[in-house]
Amino acid sequence: MKEVLLLKCGEIVLKGLNRKTFEDRLLKNLKRRMAHVADCEITMRQSVVYVEIPDDADADAVMECASRVFGFATISRAAVCPEKTLESIIATAKDYLAPNFAAAKTFKVESKRGDKKFPMTSTEISQHVGGELADLFPDVRPDMHHPDLTVHVEMREKYAFVHAGPVPGAGGMPIGSNGRAALLLSGGIDSPVAGWMMAKRGLELCGIHFFSYPYTSERAKEKVLELGRKLTAWCGRMSVMVVPFTHIQEEIRDKCHEELFTLIMRRFMMRIAERVAVEYGCGALITGESLGQVASQTMPAMAVTGAVCDLPVFRPCIGMDKEEIVTIARKIDTFETSILPYEDCCTVFTPKHPNTKPKMPKILEAESHLDVEALVDEAVKGVEIIHLP
Ligand code: ATP
Ligand code: MG
Repeated sequence: MKEVLLLKCGEIVLKGLNRKTFEDRLLKNLKRRMAHVADCEITMRQSVVYVEIPDDADADAVMECASRVFGFATISRAAVCPEKTLESIIATAKDYLAPNFAAAKTFKVESKRGDKKFPMTSTEISQHVGGELADLFPDVRPDMHHPDLTVHVEMREKYAFVHAGPVPGAGGMPIGSNGRAALLLSGGIDSPVAGWMMAKRGLELCGIHFFSYPYTSERAKEKVLELGRKLTAWCGRMSVMVVPFTHIQEEIRDKCHEELFTLIMRRFMMRIAERVAVEYGCGALITGESLGQVASQTMPAMAVTGAVCDLPVFRPCIGMDKEEIVTIARKIDTFETSILPYEDCCTVFTPKHPNTKPKMPKILEAESHLDVEALVDEAVKGVEIIHLP
């Protein structure tokens, strides 16, 4: 049986004059992502996108791919009726929805008539199709108020479709519609979630990872790249900039007071991230910080680390509990990778008693023992760019 996906656009339908640009981008994103999965014909009419699934394609994979494209509110997986007649609609519903009828005790039919030339109203269609299906499935009672199964009939321009109702799409806005931002990507649980949340708001991501070889291993780096790959299932291709960070950490260790180590290190991260971000056309930085989670994520600590950059810093996890972050990490399939036990550059020289209420003059005094500009330049020059598909 021929199947299609009917994807309904989300928030972008609200966008007035920009709507066309948004829709074009959404369609382009979907086509690019779908190209890895199957050779589907993809078209858009009246804010509905049609994905025609070829007979030899894996329909579940097509569905999964579509459900990870930001910008769609709902997805209906439907059967195409061979003809636009009531008989054809009933026959299609009988076959295609047989498993749904088998699992239901009650049902109703809901029809939409996009094709106004069809000589019956949507109510008449529902009544007729509902009556016939009630005869075909005598164990399933009609119930107009709380049915287990709602049979949807959509009478569109070219075809009639039958399905068992929409499921939620990925939501959000099309990737790229709000520009590009740089995600500070560690091997932890929080930063991939932060990246996903901002990608959902239409940001294209560019990853930045600080790498402290040999204190952290190649395997730790591979883990971060794997997290990046997992994110590409949602946000499409992405580049990760790997920044050599060892020299900076050694300099801080040798020349600054231990309790300030993490804060000074984080200020370097933000400076370097901003330089790289600007070079690659990013308009903001994204981190996985969550208020109070660790010593460097108190309000005064974030004031000190945020002070070195001019770009806006998005911290979408800031108000979330760890449990809430973990729930998203599981949903987006990064959790299992994040908990692999490889060391992170942040844990390498962690002070025993980190300062949670830093004062700026003390930080500046400590940094005066370092050649900040030269160290930042050196790190930026050493960036290795890795493109993830
Ligand atoms: P995560 O679970 O993402 O590692 P965390 O709770 O461990 O976060 P920190 O280690 O203090 O928190 O880091 C806070 C944020 O700083 C991270 O969410 C990430 O955005 C950034 N960050 C930390 N380490 C790195 C790194 N090695 N490379 C790039 N960004 C990093
Ligand atoms: Mg971390």
